[in-house]
Amino acid sequence: MRRAIIMLGVLLFAGFSGTVSAQIPPIVNDHWYHNHTTLTVDVQAWASDYPEIVDLTSAGQTELGRELWVVRLSDWAVETKEDGTPKDMVYIDGGHHGNEHLGTELAFLVAQYYIEGWADGEEEAIRVLSNTEIHVLIMLNADGNDLDTRWNVNQIDLNRNYAHRWDENETQSGRGGPFSESETLANSEYMNTYMKDADLYITMHTGVWIMLYPWGYMPDQPVDWELFHFIRDDVHDSLSEIPIRNANQGLYPNRGTSRDYGYGIMGFPTFTFETDDEQWALGSIESLDSRMAEELDVMRYLIDNVWYWRARLILDSFNLDGDVVNFEVTNLGRASTRNATLQYLVGEEVVWESNNFTINATSSKSVSTSGFDNEGGEWRFSYQKRLINSAVWVNESVDVGDYETGFFAQSMASLVWAMQVGAIPLFVIGFAFWWSREEKPFYLVDEIPLEAELIG
Ligand SMILES: [Zn+2]
Repeated sequence: MRRAIIMLGVLLFAGFSGTVSAQIPPIVNDHWYHNHTTLTVDVQAWASDYPEIVDLTSAGQTELGRELWVVRLSDWAVETKEDGTPKDMVYIDGGHHGNEHLGTELAFLVAQYYIEGWADGEEEAIRVLSNTEIHVLIMLNADGNDLDTRWNVNQIDLNRNYAHRWDENETQSGRGGPFSESETLANSEYMNTYMKDADLYITMHTGVWIMLYPWGYMPDQPVDWELFHFIRDDVHDSLSEIPIRNANQGLYPNRGTSRDYGYGIMGFPTFTFETDDEQWALGSIESLDSRMAEELDVMRYLIDNVWYWRARLILDSFNLDGDVVNFEVTNLGRASTRNATLQYLVGEEVVWESNNFTINATSSKSVSTSGFDNEGGEWRFSYQKRLINSAVWVNESVDVGDYETGFFAQSMASLVWAMQVGAIPLFVIGFAFWWSREEKPFYLVDEIPLEAELIG
């Protein structure tokens, strides 16, 4: 006890003297572990103090009737981004395991970071809340938190109780099947009702300092390994040395987790964020504060860049040569997509579409497809956000410009001009060069072995 008082004194002194706050956001020094009662007080205070950005709701109740608070953060004065596109969606939960207090606190800290940043007029918080909805279910296992136990009140491990590869042989995975517990059922219903379009799901735990991406149920790399590996390398290059691995190999095999459910069923890019397990050691409080700041940095990076955590197709060029549609497309996102098409709609009906194409993250592709003979309609890209089968499909309008002046029309004009000035040979050379630049027929990426498949 004496040691605790001394440490508290040191921390207070350090905080007041500013030696700590020079490196660590001040909010990291202020918090204490929440129980459900203090959490309720804090989130209700946020909602009443900052109604412009905080929309407090409940995803349901625990087995013992405690509210599952979800703090919804965004600039509610604007419905979309400035360019009219939908805001990006981020889902975060904490406290699946009632005795993992630090992971629960990280979920709280993330919400607090954006609320206080917005209140202080900080550019990053304002930008993020203008463009993003962040939904944070801070404490899922509030009954277990009250009892300081991993399990919920029915002695179930909530993070084995999800409907993805649920297995009765996992320890305390549920009473006869997945979603047997009101906490997990409420969480999945919230995801399916409000978060279908999310492009990031982080679930917070405590144990080993590590970030885990799917899968837990098998050692193979996920089909969207390119996305997860990019994030891993980017975080390691500039933010943190936190290990980032697939769960099965990075920690241990597990089935029925919210992470595998989030990716495998909901199609979210999903990470389990494990804080370390030193929350009981008072002597380590100060270093834990530093570590929480580093983890908050990683969360800020993941949230601020959420736009990139899927495929993002942009039309680079378009022309119509007779009945052949030629276009070039770039994927600005960090996830690949396949079975993508450029479609032409008259009303609701797709009257023409290009050959399916596959396009890797941050790369470009040329596609040519014949048979276009339509008018009076609109163009769009149709593609899945990620490679996983449960990825959401998107249909995004495309402005192709004025395709009346496509290659064929241009070449006719050039021919007339060439004949007039007697420069036909030059034109023929140019024509041949154009044809030699034709792309080879595209291939599907899933027909060649992915690096991930070789790793697995
Ligand atoms: Zn846990």
